[in-house]
Amino acid sequence: MKDVAQIRADFPILSRTVNGQPLVYLDNAATSQTPQQVIDVIVDYYSRYNANIHRGVHALSQEATDAYEQARQKIQQHFNIAASREVIFTSGTTHSINIVANGFTTLLQKGDELLVSAMEHHSNIVPWQMLCERTGATLKVIPMNREGELRMDVYRELLSENTKLVFCNHISNALGTINPIEEIIEAAHAVDAAVVIDGAQAAPHVKADLQALDVDFYTVSAHKLCGPTGVGMLYGKSEWLAKLPPYQGGGEMIAEVTFEKTTYADLPHKFEAGTPNICGGIAFGAALDYLNGIGLTEIAAYEASLLAYATEELLKIAGLKIYGTAAHKTAVISFNIEGIHPYDIGTILDKLGIAVRTGHHCAQPIMDFYQIPGTVRASFSFYNTKEEIDALVAAVERARKMLS
Ligand SMILES: *Cc1c(COP(=O)(O)O)cnc(C)c1O
Repeated sequence: MKDVAQIRADFPILSRTVNGQPLVYLDNAATSQTPQQVIDVIVDYYSRYNANIHRGVHALSQEATDAYEQARQKIQQHFNIAASREVIFTSGTTHSINIVANGFTTLLQKGDELLVSAMEHHSNIVPWQMLCERTGATLKVIPMNREGELRMDVYRELLSENTKLVFCNHISNALGTINPIEEIIEAAHAVDAAVVIDGAQAAPHVKADLQALDVDFYTVSAHKLCGPTGVGMLYGKSEWLAKLPPYQGGGEMIAEVTFEKTTYADLPHKFEAGTPNICGGIAFGAALDYLNGIGLTEIAAYEASLLAYATEELLKIAGLKIYGTAAHKTAVISFNIEGIHPYDIGTILDKLGIAVRTGHHCAQPIMDFYQIPGTVRASFSFYNTKEEIDALVAAVERARKMLS
């Protein structure tokens, strides 16, 4: 990978201080920081060509439309998606999943079964529970082992001709586990079930080839991959997107409106009601350009070295236990120290300028599984350094001494 000092210079926020200390930002699984290259694209949009898209005849509207549609093509290429109409701009993963869950209301009935993995983010649990309430379908859970890996043997037993949908994250935000989605998709397709993969946590670390995966739906949030908040993607195979009814009604998603009858626009516009996050969509494309400029393969290798180093160093601390020790995992470390509440550790780390997350990480069932109230989670990005890990380890050790 490019020199990390050079990379850090792209991120203005990384040179600020917090509580008088240099910022050590280790909450990347919650949101990533934004490089100047993406900030410039946002400033440029509002400085030069802010306009509503797809309907104006004037120059600014044309420029904005072109830039927005180019961003859609960048996303299409990045994820190797067959057609740009299969790329739906959304406000993020939560919105993307809700579009699918709403759409399946008309396609399910009592007796149908949906399988959800035990390590999902709430946004990949709750919309499906709501769908089950509407349709009478049943939600079943694919369990995990103590290491935080899915029990694939149980998954295969749960699959049946009643299974209509399977959902799972590509990478767990709470544990870092990389799930074997190739196998999950293949086994689901063998019983004609569709698969929704939540790629929110994977997109900044792994380049997913959606055609090779043959996945039915895949979701991404731009703010986890150096883009802005409030924008993301829903990928859906066009056969599926054609079957699903629209999620929201309004402008942009229609072909023709009369008081007698309204017809819907073609894909992707059918799922893009109202004025979208135009600037956000363009910046999403710029964020992918930025990541590809460094290289996802290079990023993954560097982050793996950070993970190995941080794991080794943190485990030297007395009473520290790591949750999520899967053989395949990304640079997320969820941990606790015996007898100390995670929130108390997080508070002391903040005083020392270190940003980590504490709590259940929107994945309460995982915490229930381990019978803990939550964890401290340090999640790393390609712009983090070994020196920052040393600062984290020293601060955790200091917190342990103060609190025990
Ligand atoms: C962040 C995250 C989400 C939710 O994404 P939003 O951007 O808040 O919609 C869902 N799943 C996983 C695995 C995540 O990491």
